[in-house]
Amino acid sequence: MLDAGLLRERFQQRYGVYPSLIVRAPGRVNLLGEHTDYNDGFVLPVAIDRATYIAARSRDDQMVQVVSSDLNEEDSFSLDHIERSGQPWHNYVRGVVLALQVAGYSLMGADLLIASDVPRGSGLSSSAALEIAVGYAFRELNSLSISGTELALLAQGAENNFVGVQCGIMDQLIAVFGRGDHALLIDCRDLSHRVVPLPSSVAIVVCDSRLPRTLAASAYNQRRQECNTAVQLLQQWYPGIRALRDVSEDQFAAHCERLPEPVRSRARHVVRENRRTLEGAEALERGDVVAFGQLMNASHASLRDDYQVSLPDIDLLVERAQRLAGCYGSRLTGAGFGGCTVSLVEHSEVETFSRDLLQAYHDATGRTATIYVCRASDGVGRAVDDAGPQK
Ligand code: ADP
Ligand code: MG
Repeated sequence: MLDAGLLRERFQQRYGVYPSLIVRAPGRVNLLGEHTDYNDGFVLPVAIDRATYIAARSRDDQMVQVVSSDLNEEDSFSLDHIERSGQPWHNYVRGVVLALQVAGYSLMGADLLIASDVPRGSGLSSSAALEIAVGYAFRELNSLSISGTELALLAQGAENNFVGVQCGIMDQLIAVFGRGDHALLIDCRDLSHRVVPLPSSVAIVVCDSRLPRTLAASAYNQRRQECNTAVQLLQQWYPGIRALRDVSEDQFAAHCERLPEPVRSRARHVVRENRRTLEGAEALERGDVVAFGQLMNASHASLRDDYQVSLPDIDLLVERAQRLAGCYGSRLTGAGFGGCTVSLVEHSEVETFSRDLLQAYHDATGRTATIYVCRASDGVGRAVDDAGPQK
């Protein structure tokens, strides 16, 4: 965890005055429900104990000054005229600030200092952590009454329209509504959500394969298109459906033979993954981590065989993990074609598990993966060690 006291001192060194607040927004990992979000379905992420912190103070003019101490870079812009920057990271900040203004909130200028221990570009959503931290900092500095869901939607809008990345709503919602020692079941259609307890005996072990995700963007668009085609074809028999979310497994089974491949397999993944995600939440609610782990394993097989978004080296990581002692379940997490795996592992076995998994991956591929052992943490809020005595 980053030290809020250190952040306060760094802010003072840069701006000559102490911050009036420090906010914290977490990264995330998705335990179950992959490629279901754009099918109006269910996802089950956790907020992790790696987060983006922003120390902040209002200014009495219209300027916003931003320091990213992680990149050792700065940005500065006026609230009167927010333009897209050639530096991608600037746009996460500018985009959220502009989205707040477009939504009708009037803001004062601010000095911001960002520091994060969410790895950037690894699939743990450092982007949403940054967006939500920025939005929350301005909410607090300007005493705005803005709901968590609205904040998430504004941040997602900023990433979609200002940064130019087509992400779903999961990352922003979990950065807002995460809860310590819980996962969050999100209905991506109406954005309702409920917290689901995680057993205290297990750790969440994320393994970043460090594979370049070269195929990811085109394959993602193609999968989305295939899901749309499946909906159009299934509407012959079920005119009321709007998304694959509306199709039960029985309904799917009754007509799937009439769908061409690969549309049939893609739809089968989504229909089953939605059911697995709901079942997974119930399993956790009754404390059945064994059943939950089996659903994670089944999710991986489906991502590999039906949705075809895995890679041999990711399969290797997952299959090795599943065979190691103390592991309840393991699967690809994120959109695929590289990225991370997530495993649930008994605390007492985490060290051996991590060592053996890294070794097996290195032996087989020559590559070095990175492991992040995480626990579920709270969503956005003021940092515990907020602004301190100088406030
Ligand atoms: P992910 O969300 O999986 O980490 P993305 O590519 O979606 O990967 O977002 C990473 C980008 O977000 C970075 O390249 C950078 O532009 C921006 N970003 C995230 N965290 C920070 C930070 N602490 N300081 C500056 N920019 C950041
Ligand atoms: Mg991201």
